[in-house]
Amino acid sequence: MNAIEKIAGIFSKFPGIGPRQSKRFVFFLLTKGNDFLDELIELLNKLKNEILMCDSCRRFFPAGPKKEKICNICADKNRDSSILMLIEKDTDLENLEKSGIYKGHYFVLGGNISVFEKNPEEKIRSKELVKKINESVKSGLKEIIIATSLNTEGENTMEFLIKLLGAMAQKNSIKISTLGKGLSTGTELEYIDSETIKNAIQNRH
Ligand SMILES: [Zn+2]
Repeated sequence: MNAIEKIAGIFSKFPGIGPRQSKRFVFFLLTKGNDFLDELIELLNKLKNEILMCDSCRRFFPAGPKKEKICNICADKNRDSSILMLIEKDTDLENLEKSGIYKGHYFVLGGNISVFEKNPEEKIRSKELVKKINESVKSGLKEIIIATSLNTEGENTMEFLIKLLGAMAQKNSIKISTLGKGLSTGTELEYIDSETIKNAIQNRH
């Protein structure tokens, strides 16, 4: 395989990108020339070296020169440590933060679970989540909001999470709620507007 085919192979693994589009991306890069490629290479290196995954919520964040292990949201003492929202991906978190409505903590699941998945616990960060909840209990966790997408995978993930966390929540008197009300089917948190987010959070149940 030559470099064109190899890079196209990598692009085809991107979400929503097929083999034809991935080839177009490669030729686009080649057409843009060396300066563009050099800039991209430099930025990819920065992405590798300057963006870390938070040890606590598992989101990606730009670390400072000290290479701190905890992101600014987890480190913020003004945030409400009694609420933990479980979301599928970083872009959901970005959209929620943009709305400025939610002041609790997050955990990024890193994906969702398809209905016939044989190893559901491996499709999301199950072990890390259990660890996070154990730690959050010590800092006064009272509620877990499951905020997965309103599609088949999201609902299946929600059911898995309720099973995974049910006993633990009950033992520690933690309420488990969901954002279902006020959101239409097919909704991904990544795309909803601030007003809808606000309503969904206020009407959680
Ligand atoms: Zn964090």
